[in-house]
Order: sequence, then structure tokens, then C-alpha cells
Amino acid sequence: MTSESKVRVRFAPSPTGHLHVGNARTALFNWLFARKAGGTMILRIEDTDLERSQTKYEDLLIADLKWLGLDWDEGPDVGGPYVPYRQSDRLDVYREYAEKLLNERKGYLCFCTEEELQKERERAHAEHRQPIYSGKCWNLDPEESKRRRAAGEHAAIRLRIPERPIRFHDIVHGEVEFSNEVVSDPIILRSSGIPVYNYVVVVDDALMKITHVIRGDDHLSNTPKQVALYEALGWPVPEFAHLSTILGSDRERLSKRHGATSIANFREMGVLPEALTNYLALLGWAPSGGTREIFTPAELTKEFTLERVTPSPAVFDMEKLYWLNRHYIKEAPAAKLIPLARSFFLNAGLLSDSLNISANDWFDKVIQLLVPSVDRLDQLPERAAFIFNYDAQAALTASDNAEVLALPQTNAVLSAFTTKILGDESAQAGKLAPERFKQIVNEVKAETGVKGKELFHPIRIIVTGSHSGPEFDKLVPILEEGSHLALPKHVLSVFERAQAFAKAHA
Ligand code: GLU
Repeated sequence: MTSESKVRVRFAPSPTGHLHVGNARTALFNWLFARKAGGTMILRIEDTDLERSQTKYEDLLIADLKWLGLDWDEGPDVGGPYVPYRQSDRLDVYREYAEKLLNERKGYLCFCTEEELQKERERAHAEHRQPIYSGKCWNLDPEESKRRRAAGEHAAIRLRIPERPIRFHDIVHGEVEFSNEVVSDPIILRSSGIPVYNYVVVVDDALMKITHVIRGDDHLSNTPKQVALYEALGWPVPEFAHLSTILGSDRERLSKRHGATSIANFREMGVLPEALTNYLALLGWAPSGGTREIFTPAELTKEFTLERVTPSPAVFDMEKLYWLNRHYIKEAPAAKLIPLARSFFLNAGLLSDSLNISANDWFDKVIQLLVPSVDRLDQLPERAAFIFNYDAQAALTASDNAEVLALPQTNAVLSAFTTKILGDESAQAGKLAPERFKQIVNEVKAETGVKGKELFHPIRIIVTGSHSGPEFDKLVPILEEGSHLALPKHVLSVFERAQAFAKAHA
């Protein structure tokens, strides 16, 4: 784990909602960086926003990260040398260092009320200025301030931002400089005693010996305040790597408006974790010298470097994710895919938990038949419609079938095929073998003189309701076998289909 490398990184989510792709990418890049370096990955829960944080989100975050295949060496669930890893359990630590800053005059007590500060912000806004704190309490006598606080006046603690530019190095953005003119003296501890993100993050990162802070670039403008805090507390400043914003296809910041954005959404759509991690890795990172796009987690770990992370925004391309997912679906062993696929049929009411062994085996064959045709597992029930929801009337009126049905020779094929099926004993018994099916098709061909797709398309319409679909050799046994099983939804045999079609067509 930590033996050779000193690299220590952390993923520090706030448990205020579901894990979204932006944060998941942050977690993944931290993980890849740590694993490549043989360093330590830490999970820290940032729940100082007491109103918005909920334990249920912490549990969901952890479950989503694990589903993605990520793990960590230290964290609230696994412990570690710097416990506790949940900020609400560390309030005493934050208070201690805030008082230290106050005593060393690197911080000061601020008695401004929320209303006063709000007015200041509004004035700045009206005058098109940055909302910088006026510094009203900056110059108060520290001893006098402490007396006022002891007498019960509400006071926050602010940090004094030094009167010089603040510089830091960012692996993605290079040298970054902020003028102190644009950085307010930040509140570090509210008058309620609750510390503020910019402060706790520094205390924790320093005490937990974090070497590289890898996070979203929405935190870039927070970094000068954090750097000032490291300096005030006399702690070494870590390396930073701010990852670019993720945009939707319209180049607006990715949000719910663009559809699925949470990891749970993608899981529910039947996106495999391998596909999602592979895709997330390509959001703002590319391997050196190549256009390769398919990577296992082990390959990613080998290739990954922060130097190849781009500062420009990354556009989330759903189609590419689905393309990768199709690849991983095809690669997945049946033993892994079948249970996943089953859950979608269960939800669609096409499968039940109480099927006997032969019905279960049959269902697995259906899944294997359909899986190559989907790029998300949630498409499976709809792809199975021709098995469970055969509708002869709909087949005759479907616009997709209109062209085939309008061909002059189609009627001859339809009636020759239905007549033969209806007269065949094995078909009547629901026991039509694929060989016999082929024989019948050949007889129809000989009788009508129609061949090729003009022969096959009408027959497909009778059997499946659509002119395209899986091969008959695989399909016929599935329909025949299915028609004998007790399933939540009866499967029509080839005979029953021909019968229904003949009736609708009459
Ligand atoms: N809790 C912060 C967030 O979720 C973490 C930011 C950081 O990594 O410093 O945005």
C-alpha cells in the first residue's frame, strides 16, 4: 500500500446528493493516480454543511464508488492512521487551529452580522465590483474583540489574506496567480462554531498528509484562500490538479437537463461499470501517442498521468459511452451478464423469481439471443417484444413492414407458409424443429418461385411481427420451447403465430 510511495490523495465528496459523473471522474483520477504511484487513496466525507448532508447519501456514495470498481486504503468505513475521516467528527480539531490562527493574529474576530454582509454584497453587485469583504473588523483590537466574544457577542473567525499576490502550481493549469485584491479575508469558523469548507479542507489535507489535491476546477478560485491558509498555519502546500468542467452536448455545464448524470442513473440503464470507468477516464485525459479508447482499469492505471489531463472542458458524449458499453456487454462472460440482464426482465414483469429450472434455463437462452443487439441492458425487454408480445394485427399495419407487405409476390408467400405451418403436425404440437422449419421454407420457395429476402421477409413478419431479427435456427427453438413453459407472459409457438396471422390477414 503505502510502503514505497509517499503519494497520498483523497476523494472528498459532500454527502448532499447522488454521485454524479463529474465527482465520479474526480474519484477515478485520484484512484488511478494513487494506484499507479503505489500510493494511498483516501475517502473523506465532507459533511460540514449540516443542513444538506445526509448519512443516506454517504452510504449511496460508497456503494456507487464500489460499483465503479474503486477502493480506498483509508476512510470512514475502513479506518486508517488519521481517523476520523468524516468532518463532522473532527470539529474539535478545526476549532483548535482556528484559535491558534486567532492567537497568532493571522486571524481576527469578525462581528459583522449576516444582514450587514448581505448589504455589502448587494452594493458590490450594484457597482459591478467583486464582493470583497470591506475589512470592517480587520483592525479591531484583538484583546477587545476577545472580551466582546467572551461577553456573549457572536463572532466569526476570519483569516487575514496577505497583501501580496497568491501563487500556486497546478499540474493541469500551470502557474496560477491571484491578486490579493480579489480574495476576501475568508471566514474560517462561523459564529455558530461551524467551520467553513475552505478552512476544513486545508486542515484535513495537511493533517492527513495529502500530497496531491486532485478535484474539479470549480474549486480553482477557492485555492488561493486555501494556499493562504497553508502558509498561515506553516504547512507545506500540496500539488494541485484541477480537472476541467464537464459539458453537455450543447456545451453548457452538464446537468440533469442533459439526461442521465448520476452513477445510479447509468447503472439503472444497464451501463456496465467497466464501460463507465473507461468512458470517465477519457473525459479530459488521453493516453500518450494514440487514439486508443478501450482500456481495462489495469491498463488505465498503467497509462494514466496527470500531465496528460487537459485544461479545456470535456464534452460528455452519450453515444460514445453507449458504444463502449456495447463493447463491454459483448465481452462480458454469460455468468456475469445473465444475472444483470435478468433484473431488467424482472422489472418489466416478464420474468418472476419463482420460475422452475427449465423456464430459468430457457430465459437465459433468450438473454443470450438478445444481448448482442443492445447497447444498454435496459433495452432488453423492448428487444424481447417479439417473443412476449406478438401482435399479428400490429405486424400488418406497422409502417416498417409496409414495403414488404406491398410487394406483389408477398401474398403468395404468406399464404403458402401459413398453410404449411398450420398443417404440420410437429408445429401443431409446438415441437417444430429448426430443420423442419427450413424444409417448409424450401417448400414455399419451390411452390411460389420467390427467393432471397422476398421470401424471408414475409416469413419473418409472420413469425416475429418484423422483417428483421435473429436467425430462425436460434429463434424457432426458443419460441417452441417457450410455448410449453409456465412464464409470467405466455409465449406463442410458431403455429399459434401463423394461426393469429392468418386470422388477422383474412
Ligand atoms: N467537498 C468538496 C466537493 O465535494 C471537495 C472539494 C475538494 O476536493 O477540495 O466539492
